Amino acid sequence: MNFNDLNLINPIKKALAQEGYERPSPIQAEAIPPLLAGRDLLGCAQTGTGKTAAFAIPILQTLYRQSANAPQKHSLRALILTPTRELAAQVAQSFQDYGRHTNLKTVAIFGGVGQAPQVAALRGGVDILAATPGRLCDLIGQKLCDIGGISMFVLDEADRMLDMGFIHDVKRVIALLPRERQTLLFSATMPKEIAALANSILRDPVTVAVTPVSSPVEIIEQSVYLVDRLNKGALLIDLLQGADIVSALVFSRTKHGADKIGRILNKAGIAAGVIHGNKSQGARETALADFKSGKTRALIATDIAARGIDIDQLSHVINFDLPNEPETYVHRIGRTGRAGLGGVAISFCNFDEKAYLKDIQKLIGKEVPVVEGHPYPMQVFEPHVPQPRPPRPPREQRIQETQRTQGSPRTREAPRGKAADAPSRKPAEAPECKAGETQNHRPRRRRPR
Ligand code: AMP
Repeated sequence: MNFNDLNLINPIKKALAQEGYERPSPIQAEAIPPLLAGRDLLGCAQTGTGKTAAFAIPILQTLYRQSANAPQKHSLRALILTPTRELAAQVAQSFQDYGRHTNLKTVAIFGGVGQAPQVAALRGGVDILAATPGRLCDLIGQKLCDIGGISMFVLDEADRMLDMGFIHDVKRVIALLPRERQTLLFSATMPKEIAALANSILRDPVTVAVTPVSSPVEIIEQSVYLVDRLNKGALLIDLLQGADIVSALVFSRTKHGADKIGRILNKAGIAAGVIHGNKSQGARETALADFKSGKTRALIATDIAARGIDIDQLSHVINFDLPNEPETYVHRIGRTGRAGLGGVAISFCNFDEKAYLKDIQKLIGKEVPVVEGHPYPMQVFEPHVPQPRPPRPPREQRIQETQRTQGSPRTREAPRGKAADAPSRKPAEAPECKAGETQNHRPRRRRPR
């Protein structure tokens, strides 16, 4: 099948050719015809399958046809709700790319940045809105955005909305939408709550399922290194110093862990950026842009921050920590091997994470090959018991200690602020290789089977 078989209008076909798309991906081939016919759709698909174009193309084509008589008049008719700001921005970009010859206007709105430019963009007239639920609810509450004219609604990555606690905002938005509309719901997994939501908002939907989450892309080469917790940092440096890995997306289970891994790599001379929920929008965008342009070789990310990030031709995913939910492993490794390209997924597994590895292998239905003969083989075969922190001495005593070792603050040479070698207010940083320390001992969310 090619795009000519899908009855697409010329402005869209032209844009797809400019994107270099030769033929529709499976989800596009299956979803576009019923969507152009006005059907609701339930899509079981994750990022990397081409699902954005699968809904963007029919939405653009439908709105373009409606606007044919008044091409200069913009009115908000399509809404795409996404769980993360990165995904909202990427979805809007895709609409702009595929719709570049249509005169339809797409705007992204999301939290974490000032609302004024977004409000100005809305006032300028818009046809399609890609939004995160929190900011959208805010703007609706302030009467700065009206979704009463929406006739096409997409709920993207519905399972993540649930995971991230946005489902109430999503339901508030849905309650404000006109009843007469075309609705599309995409979700990589189908937990009970999402199945119930789908049931309540979709009318006689067509179901399209591609790459179900329990069968990770076969083309991805997977391996696991059994390594002690304290040696993970050294192993990561060793791998990244070799020539095999041009660039890698490195997953950390926590934000704190991600920062630590970033510091370890940068200290070892390996340019690395860090992206997680505590970083400002600007810092995240810079880290992502530096990684995409090759300025940095590694991007360290938490699962939530990495969700929806679209990086073409990512060759390696490294799980510095194994996730405690096996589905997350599948999501993570799916970041590589996109659009039919091969990819490599490397996981580090310490003694405490062996149970997670077992769960993952059970879900994917095969063993992940263990790399033998690497420089940091596992030597600790018992669970790690975190040591309680020693109590802090009283403030007076700490000041006296500082003065004894540094001199009085007035006589110190260091500039104002903290002396370069003054004791940190925080407890001493754990040794570099301890990046996974706090992560390995979080209570497992899954019950042992
Ligand atoms: P998505 O699943 O929407 O995040 O898309 C994943 C990647 O596939 C994006 O980088 C798209 O640009 C790319 N893509 C989408 N559709 C096609 C297609 N028909 N041919 C080639 N690449 C595509």
